[in-house]
Amino acid sequence: MSAALGLLRSESYEAIRAEGREPDILVVSKLQPLRSHTGSAEGGIAASLGNIEHDDWHWHLYDTIKGGDWLVDQDMAAILAEEAPRTVIGLEHDGVAFSRNEDGTIAQRLFGGHTARFGEQPVHRTAYAADRIGHQILHSLWQQCVKEGVQFAEEWYVSDLVVSRGESGAAKVLGLVVLDTHSGKVHGVHADNVVLATGGAGRLFHTTSNSWDLTGDGMALALEAGLQLEDIEFVQFHPTGLAHTGILLSEAARGEGGRLLNADGEHFMDRYAPGHGDLAARDVVSRSIMAEVDAGRGVADPKDPDGPRDCVWLDLRALGRDTLRSKLPEVYETVRQYAGLDPAEDLVPIKPTAHYTMGGIPIGADGNVYEWSDGVRHGVEGLFAAGECSCVSVHGANRLGANSLLDACLFGTRTGRSLAARIAEAQDVDEAAYQTVDEAAARREHVIKTLLAGATQDAGDAGRDDADADEDNAYRLMADLGALMEQAAAVRCSHDTLAAARDAIERDLLPRAERLTAHSDTAAFNQEVTAIMEARHLLTVAQAMLAAADARHESRGALFRTDCPSRDDEHFLAHSMVAENHEVLWQPVTITDYPPKARAY
Ligand SMILES: Cc1cc2nc3c(=O)[nH]c(=O)nc-3n(C[C@H](O)[C@H](O)[C@H](O)COP(=O)(O)OP(=O)(O)OC[C@H]3O[C@@H](n4cnc5c(N)ncnc54)[C@H](O)[C@@H]3O)c2cc1C
Repeated sequence: MSAALGLLRSESYEAIRAEGREPDILVVSKLQPLRSHTGSAEGGIAASLGNIEHDDWHWHLYDTIKGGDWLVDQDMAAILAEEAPRTVIGLEHDGVAFSRNEDGTIAQRLFGGHTARFGEQPVHRTAYAADRIGHQILHSLWQQCVKEGVQFAEEWYVSDLVVSRGESGAAKVLGLVVLDTHSGKVHGVHADNVVLATGGAGRLFHTTSNSWDLTGDGMALALEAGLQLEDIEFVQFHPTGLAHTGILLSEAARGEGGRLLNADGEHFMDRYAPGHGDLAARDVVSRSIMAEVDAGRGVADPKDPDGPRDCVWLDLRALGRDTLRSKLPEVYETVRQYAGLDPAEDLVPIKPTAHYTMGGIPIGADGNVYEWSDGVRHGVEGLFAAGECSCVSVHGANRLGANSLLDACLFGTRTGRSLAARIAEAQDVDEAAYQTVDEAAARREHVIKTLLAGATQDAGDAGRDDADADEDNAYRLMADLGALMEQAAAVRCSHDTLAAARDAIERDLLPRAERLTAHSDTAAFNQEVTAIMEARHLLTVAQAMLAAADARHESRGALFRTDCPSRDDEHFLAHSMVAENHEVLWQPVTITDYPPKARAY
C-alpha cells in the first residue's frame, strides 16, 4: 500500500497523467488487507525525530549496523536512518494517530538497541501510538489507498510469479497467476510491473508470534521463478512466547521482576549471564532457554503434560495480582485467556518464539529485485519487493526493534516512486509475451482441478487400506514441518541438525506434500486448496533456509551454530544468496563508514 501511494503521489505520475495515461494499479491480498500482520505490531516505529532529547540519524545508522552484527549494507542503512523522520511525518500526514508529547509533537519511547552517541546511552527514538502502531499504520494506508481509488483484489491467492528469460538470460516479469478464493477461479494477471510485499515466514516454526498466514509465499514464488533469496538463514526469536500459542509476552514481564526457572526450579539465567540475569539480550536469553531444554531441564506445557519438555517457567508470582493488573495488564490477560492459567498463582510455560525473517528477496535501494551471479547484480525487469519478504539488507543478521515497520513503509514508498518513473518511460507492451502468463494460469488451473478431483476419488474409495494417507492434510503437514524446523533450527543449530532436517523434508514431507488433495471438491472458498499451496511454499523456503544455514560456518547475530560458535569475518562477512537448487553464492557486504567490531555478547 505504501508503494501504491508512493507511485500515485510521485512527480513521474503527474507526467503520466498529463499524457492522458491511467495505469491500472491493483493491490492483491490473500486476506482482507486489514487483516495483514502489520496490524499486530505494538511497539513503534524508529526515527531520530529528537522530540524528547537530542538525536542524530548517524546514531540510528550506527545502532542498526551494530544490531545487525555488521552484516548490514551500510549505504542502505544510511537511507533508512536518514529518511526515517520524513517517513514518520509522512505517516502522520496520512492520518496515523501517534501518541503525543505535552507540546503536541510525536511522542517517542526507549527501545532495545537504540542509543545516543554511538552506543553511549539509551535514546527515546521510537514513535508510537499507545501499543497499536501497526493497526494505526495499516488502517491509515488503507484509507488513503481507498481515497486515491486504488483497486483491491481481496482474498486472491497469488500462486505463481511469471518471469521470462531472454536469450541473454536476463529475467523480466510478465505477471502473476492468482486464485480468486471466493469463486475458486484461476486468473492470469498480465503486469509489466509487480511488487511482492507478502510479509514474513514465521509459520516455518511451530512456535511463532506471526499470524499463521505468514507462509513465506512471496519468497517461495521468487525461488520457484528461478530467483534467489538473500540471508534467509537469519530468523529472530523472541525469548518469551507463551507455550503452545507463541504469543509474545512483553519484555516488561521480566523488567518488572519476572524470573525464568528450569524444571529443577533453578533461576538459571544467573549462570548464563551473571550480572544481567533475566534481562540479558534477547538472543542470549533465547539460547540459554534452549540450552536448558537440550540438557533435559525443560518443562512440558501443562496443557499437554505428556508432550515434549521444551518450555521453561516464567515465574510472575512474586509480583502479586495488583502489580500484574496495573503494570502488566496485557501479559496478565494473555496468560489467563490463552493458557487458562493465573499468573498470580501459577508458573507460566514459555519458549522462544519465531518473530522476524531478516532475509528475503534481494532488492536495491529503489525496490528492484536483482539476481547475483558472476560477482555482479543483474536487475529483474519490472519486479520489485518491499517489506518483510524483501532484503534490502538493513537488518543484517539481527533486526533492531521498531526498524521493520520503517523498512516496509520507507522502502515501499521509494519502490512506488521508482515504479512511476519506469511507467513514465514505458515502451510499447509486448502483448504476445502475455501468452506465457495465460499458459501458466492454465497449468495452475489443472493442478487445482487435480486437488479437487482427489476429494471426489477419496470419497468414493472408502475401502482403501492406505488409511494414513487418507488422514493426511496440509494442516498436519505444516504442523510437522513446524516441529521439525523447531527441532533443527530454532535459536541454535549445527550441521547435524540441519542435515537431518533436510533429509526428513526430502524423504517424508515433500512426497507427502505432493500427494495431498483436498477433502472437499467445492471450488469456492475451499481453504484447503490454499493451505496445500501454502504448505508447498513453506517447504520450498524451509529447504533454502536450511541450505543457507548449513553453508554459513559461523555464528552471527540471530544464527547460532553450536559447531561453529564464533563469528568469522574473514570468510563470512558476506550475504548468502541461495537458489531453489540450494546452491549458495556469497555477495560482499557494503561497508562505508563503520568497520566491523567484535560483538559484546
Ligand atoms: C506480534 C508482532 C509485533 C511486531 N511489532 C513490531 C513493532 O513494534 N515495530 C516494528 O517495526 N515491527 C514490528 N513487527 C514486525 C512488523 O510488523 C512486520 O515486519 C511488518 O509489519 C511486515 O509488513 P509487510 O507489509 O511486509 O507484511 P504483512 O503486513 O504481513 O502483509 C503481507 C500481505 O501479503 C499478503 N500475501 C501474502 N502471501 C500472499 C499470496 N500468496 N497471495 C496474495 N497475498 C499474499 C497478505 O495477505 C498480506 O496482506 C512485529 C511483528 C509481529 C509479528
